[in-house]
Amino acid sequence: MDFNRIAPTIDVETMQQSHVTIIGGANGLARDLVHSGLGAVTLVDFDRIDTSNPARQDFYSTDMGRYKAEATADILRKINPEVQVEYYTHDYCALSRQEHDNLFSQTDLFVFATDFFPAQARGNIEALRLGIPAIWIGLYKGGRAGEIVYSVPGKTNACYRCICGKRYQAFHLGRANVPSAGGTILDLHLVDAIVGQIAIGILTDGADNRMGKLIGKLGNRNFMQVKIDPDYRLGDKDIFAKYLGDHPANFSFTTIALPMERDENCPDCGN
Ligand SMILES: [Zn+2]
Repeated sequence: MDFNRIAPTIDVETMQQSHVTIIGGANGLARDLVHSGLGAVTLVDFDRIDTSNPARQDFYSTDMGRYKAEATADILRKINPEVQVEYYTHDYCALSRQEHDNLFSQTDLFVFATDFFPAQARGNIEALRLGIPAIWIGLYKGGRAGEIVYSVPGKTNACYRCICGKRYQAFHLGRANVPSAGGTILDLHLVDAIVGQIAIGILTDGADNRMGKLIGKLGNRNFMQVKIDPDYRLGDKDIFAKYLGDHPANFSFTTIALPMERDENCPDCGN
């Protein structure tokens, strides 16, 4: 593959030495990272492709019944035959710690893209323990807004649990499940395109180009929300107008990046 035309923006040499592990179904993101020069990918997903998937995810109708991870691996090899792809159809939450580390300790970045809260939560514990950067992706109800949380040891202060503590409480009260109905492939791609830039920013941090400067510029703003539906409200709150104001130019398809501090009482990263 000839990466010359993206080389001014992406440190492709570092990307080719990098390994990303994706838990759950961020297959569009996996594709984009391979297009961007990523050298190695591990996919973890026990789901199989069903008839509802081609309408909202990057799967083909000809792949019905196959494991999503297997179908994605084939596509990634078509994009770049040199990419190293491994896939596992395990339940991430069912892996013992030993199995977890045997499979993933070579990774440079985790992406947690499941709609199952316990998997997102376990990811925080393991990423912190292994000292590996991680990104969590989520769509809010109906795909009307998106959420991106990331952590980089030594660079960001707040972990996923520090930032999403309320979600942990909601889970314990049985209220953490966000129904995915209503979210479209356009909503997913909008959020994935931002996550892809954060991922490349983390992997190539320090490179003298636009992506290599991204994480330094973000600093402690490791909680991002993406406005998708112009009328999105959280309860009755317009969380975007709070920061972007009520100027008519504040329409939609914008991202806010909020500064986050560590919660000293955080059970995952606190003392
Ligand atoms: Zn924390």
